[in-house]
Amino acid sequence: SREKAPILKVSKLVKRFGGFHALDGLSFHVVPGEILGLVGPNGSGKTTAINVISGLYAPDGGEVVFDGTSSGGVASHRLVHRGINRTFQVPKPFLSLTVRENIQVALAYGGATGAPSIPELLEDFRLKEVADRPAADLNSAQQKMLDLTRALATRPRLLLLDELAAGLNPAELDWIAGRIKALASTGMAIIVVEHLMGFIEQITDRVIVLNAGKEIFEGTLATAVREPQVIEVFLGG
Ligand code: ADP
Repeated sequence: SREKAPILKVSKLVKRFGGFHALDGLSFHVVPGEILGLVGPNGSGKTTAINVISGLYAPDGGEVVFDGTSSGGVASHRLVHRGINRTFQVPKPFLSLTVRENIQVALAYGGATGAPSIPELLEDFRLKEVADRPAADLNSAQQKMLDLTRALATRPRLLLLDELAAGLNPAELDWIAGRIKALASTGMAIIVVEHLMGFIEQITDRVIVLNAGKEIFEGTLATAVREPQVIEVFLGG
C-alpha cells in the first residue's frame, strides 16, 4: 500500500505552548488503507499531533496537506466535511441523549453520502443492546465505541484514534483490532495513538516514533524496538 499517493502529509510541523515546543519539526505521511501508529514516551507530542491534524489547534509552523489541499489551521468542523475525523481519549457524548440519538446527530451533522446506517453502526460496534439507553449509562468501553461510531458516521477518509484501546479487556482488544483492520481494508487511512504495544504491533503497518516533538524512527514496530535510540527514549535515557 506504500506506493499509493499519501492522503496526508505533515511537514516540519511546529506547535508551541508558551515557549515549549510540543511539536518541533514533525514530518510524516500516511497513505489510503494504511494503519500508522504514533508511539513515543509520555509528553512526546502524539496527542498534540492528532489535535493539530484534526483542526483542534492551529500549527505554529510547518504544513499539513490533506488530499492535496493545505489543511493546517482549518477548523475541525470543516475538516470533518473534507474527510478527517477522530476519537478522543475521553469521549464526550451527549449524555442525556440515547446512543441511537447520538449517532443520529453525527449522521445529520456529517452529512456524508455513503455513510454507514445507524443499525449497521450499532451492530458493528456492539451497541445494539444499549441503543435506547442514555449515553450516560454506558461503561467506558461502550462510550469509546459510541465515540468511534460518531466519527464513522461522517465517513472519514482519514480517521485518527487517540487511545481507543485503553481500558478494553483482551477479548475486546482482539475484536476492535479486527474492526479497525476492516475499516482500513475499505481504503480508510488510520492513525493510531496507543500505549499498548501489543495492540500497536497487531494492527499497524508502520510506526513513527516521536521524542520531544520530533520523529526519531519510522518503520515497523518490530524494527523500532531493536533501535538503540528508540530503546533509550522508552527507558528514559
Ligand atoms: P503525548 O500524547 O505524547 O503524551 P502530548 O501531545 O499530550 O504528548 O503533550 C506534549 C507536550 O505538550 C506535553 O509536555 C504537554 O504537557 C504539552 N501540552 C499538550 N497540550 C497542551 C496544552 N493545551 N497546553 C499546554 N501544554 C500542552
